[in-house]
Amino acid sequence: FIFYFLPFANLGTTINHYQLIAVIVESASRKIVSFGYGLNFLLIKMRTLTGLIKNNHIFLDFIKSENNYAVQLNRDIVFISRKLFIGKTAFQNACWKCGTDQGSSNLFCEKCNALQHPKEKHNLFKVLKIEEDFKIDEADLKNKFRKMQTMIHPDKFSNRGSTELSISEEYSSLLNKAYSVLQTPLKRAEHLLELKGEQVGESDKIDDPEFLLEMMSLNEEVEEAGNNKQLLKKLFDKNKSVINELEKEIQENFISNNIENTKKNVIKLKYFMSIHNRINKILRELGVTD
Ligand SMILES: [Zn+2]
Repeated sequence: FIFYFLPFANLGTTINHYQLIAVIVESASRKIVSFGYGLNFLLIKMRTLTGLIKNNHIFLDFIKSENNYAVQLNRDIVFISRKLFIGKTAFQNACWKCGTDQGSSNLFCEKCNALQHPKEKHNLFKVLKIEEDFKIDEADLKNKFRKMQTMIHPDKFSNRGSTELSISEEYSSLLNKAYSVLQTPLKRAEHLLELKGEQVGESDKIDDPEFLLEMMSLNEEVEEAGNNKQLLKKLFDKNKSVINELEKEIQENFISNNIENTKKNVIKLKYFMSIHNRINKILRELGVTD
């Protein structure tokens, strides 16, 4: 056996992170020596070890004595090494650079100040650290976005090595995505539904003939308004108030957890938003901005 030492991270036990655990790599896999590579292999090994620890209560302790490092397994010293390998793997809370446990969701390592990989990629509310709700404080959202955007801007990392630069690029594009989704009520609602395991697809349509007729006649009204700025503005405002009402209903539906109605309203909102964008585009082409 070859032992590699890894910082203790997220094994779901109460061992604190200053204790180190060893990952047992069988000699056949000797070629996996560097921790920068073979990440999947190591993660599988970690999982195996996690299972060991949980099911058989095997604790691997790490002891440092002068220049030697020893691994203790169930009170027997099983391995002594002169060299300490610190894992550079992407365990959730360990710094990729120095291995220090991050604990909280800091952007930068508390010890070596290296920019950390985004802890959260799926839940965009968590990315921007705002409460997961349809109703949001738009000013707060904008503030948080701007602040984080400044902190992780790739320009700041051009001299800090390729890893941090690429993390900053990855993080920046994630931030932009999160901001663009969360600032738009329609996209925000769709994302919230997605987080609840519900999807509103392109093919989801309203099959209420009355509603569809209403949409047709609205589109005709826009058509007929032509380049009449006043008329267009009036249609725009009327449409906007419908959108506001729908957003209120969506908020109420989310509060009462009425997913079916939320979905229906989200689909309706899509129709009204497409009219909104259409009128907006014509008005901008006519030089009207507000
Ligand atoms: Zn670090």
